[in-house]
Amino acid sequence: MDLFSRIADSEHEQVLFGYDAASGLRAIVAIHSTQLGPALGGTRFYPYADEGDALADALRLSRAMTAKAAAAGLDLGGGKAVIIGDPRRIKSERLIRAFARQVHSLGGRYITAEDVGTSTADIDLMRRDTPHVVGLSTALGGSGDPSPATAIGVVHAMRAVAERLWDNDDLGGRHIVVAGVGKVGSALARALAEAGARVTVANRTPGVAERLAGEIGADVVPFAGSHATTCDLFAPCALGGVLDAVSIGQLRCRAVVGSANNQLSSPAMARLIEQRGIAYGPDFVVNAGGLINAAEERTGYDGARAAAAVATIRQTTRSVLERAEREHLTSADAALRLAEDRIAAITAIRPPRT
Ligand code: NAD
Repeated sequence: MDLFSRIADSEHEQVLFGYDAASGLRAIVAIHSTQLGPALGGTRFYPYADEGDALADALRLSRAMTAKAAAAGLDLGGGKAVIIGDPRRIKSERLIRAFARQVHSLGGRYITAEDVGTSTADIDLMRRDTPHVVGLSTALGGSGDPSPATAIGVVHAMRAVAERLWDNDDLGGRHIVVAGVGKVGSALARALAEAGARVTVANRTPGVAERLAGEIGADVVPFAGSHATTCDLFAPCALGGVLDAVSIGQLRCRAVVGSANNQLSSPAMARLIEQRGIAYGPDFVVNAGGLINAAEERTGYDGARAAAAVATIRQTTRSVLERAEREHLTSADAALRLAEDRIAAITAIRPPRT
């Protein structure tokens, strides 16, 4: 199928292809929806095999951002950008600023942030050519790295799940396995250890989990098979697609609540998890802390106000779990309905905003 047919099928509002000859910039900005406000989503800088793969990723990720922002109650739509290439080889000031000018040409319909392959320093650089960025460094008055806020949001979601399972939101003494201790997973493991949980960590690259475990007094298990550890909560914090028919059959936890995007290998997996009597905190609700925190920059960043906004994840998770039970839905479907209902309700009271 040609690229434009795929875009038409994906029901996106707009897709921009950006090019700069001198720096080698080849970028795609996908705006899925601006129904609730400007489309916000990070820029992924990745060595895609070809333009088709890059487009597929941009379309998939931007759609998920629409649901994430809507479920979080933000006045934001969904978008995402990808830059094609290996950032370690081709990233340069010229390329980043040429990309920023492409973002600027959209007149604020799309707001970018950091993602895989881009950093706070890149966002600071983009700010020189466009105001349509969030996730600036704290030195520039921004919110900085979103990962700590994402981790705190996961803790709030875990408390909501704990309340449902045990009528008690105290994570003290609960056994929690954090699979993937990168930026979010390590911050999560630390926060859980501080909350008195019994933490087990796992990481694909050797040494990383062991070092963290030594610091916080956690146990370590091999990454492969970590999902099969007997525990109270399993927190996938590495790559997406980890919950498939095989891994779900091996889960030995009461609930899955983690930061990884797109945890279910397909939507049908949500039902499979629940058939096993395991609760699931929908990823785009659970991991919205970084987005909520960065979005606070739009009205002048204030750490205390941002922390209060991130804490709303607890109530959102609670509402999703209650709705799922009430309407006999999976929690993943209940979360999607929450997002769709909000888009419909707000769209009905005002014309689409850009
Ligand atoms: P990171 O790059 O700091 O860490 C990535 C983790 O994934 C590491 O533990 C790494 O070992 C592991 N990993 C990488 N490739 C792997 C592979 N092939 N197999 C197994 N493990 C692999 O990323 P992060 O910012 O900590 O994000 C972790 C997850 O949370 C990602 O799915 C990300 O999309 C999601 N997320 C992050 C944020 C944020 O604020 N950073 C927000 C929302 C969602």
